[in-house]
Amino acid sequence: MLTRLAPTPSGLLHMGNACNFLVTWAYSRARGGQVLLRIDDADPNMVHPEGIADIHDTLSWLMIDIDGQLPSQQSRYGRYWSAIEELTAEAHIYACDCTRSQIRAASPGGHYPGTCRDRGLAVEAPEVSLRCRVDDGFGDPVVWGKNRVPAYHVASLCDDVDAGVTHVIRGDDLTAASAVQLQIARRAPSLASFCPMSIIHHPLLLGQNGQKLSKSVHSTTLRSLRAAGLSRSAVVEAAMALADPQTGQYLAERISTRT
Ligand SMILES: [Zn+2]
Repeated sequence: MLTRLAPTPSGLLHMGNACNFLVTWAYSRARGGQVLLRIDDADPNMVHPEGIADIHDTLSWLMIDIDGQLPSQQSRYGRYWSAIEELTAEAHIYACDCTRSQIRAASPGGHYPGTCRDRGLAVEAPEVSLRCRVDDGFGDPVVWGKNRVPAYHVASLCDDVDAGVTHVIRGDDLTAASAVQLQIARRAPSLASFCPMSIIHHPLLLGQNGQKLSKSVHSTTLRSLRAAGLSRSAVVEAAMALADPQTGQYLAERISTRT
């Protein structure tokens, strides 16, 4: 079993990120598996100046040991583009120049309504994103952004496949993303091994208002909570509430006794 932690360094981590680290790590360790770290830095414009240091500091504070770290996604654009070329060869890729507000207006539910599917826009044109044609009901995802950087779905898929990840463990806010990734993977031969992968979604830790936590709210960063006295065991207890029994048991034995 091989899984990975895949934080985005777009801001300082919050309690929910820490819980995901603990659940993912303990899920694999409890079953004799390995854990890699991958920092999702594909878009250099989204890298917070302190984001990467904050990830390493948090892992060390949580006493999470890893078996290796994958290379920066910024060194892998060639690989991601080769996946786009595979999809293009089978006519799954098209260019889209819709703005977010146009998409919202056309599809209040949020799914991309396929506006540009048959417009034949040039994929080399400036200010277009590339979308992958998938089954109806998923909303054709962006696979290459207007800012000319690979989209999350493609970078994450290529990295998981190439690293030989067997188990993806993520919050249930990514359930729809997992379904979209399976759609893309089915269409690119080099990504096909993603399809039999085990994808496990755990419940999210919610804020006091019942909302998903956000990296953009300073008061909820792990760094500020730690400065205010948050203990490691309190984070572990929060993570245990989101874990299956075997994973929770491992967390209880491995960490709580050491804090
Ligand atoms: Zn469009």
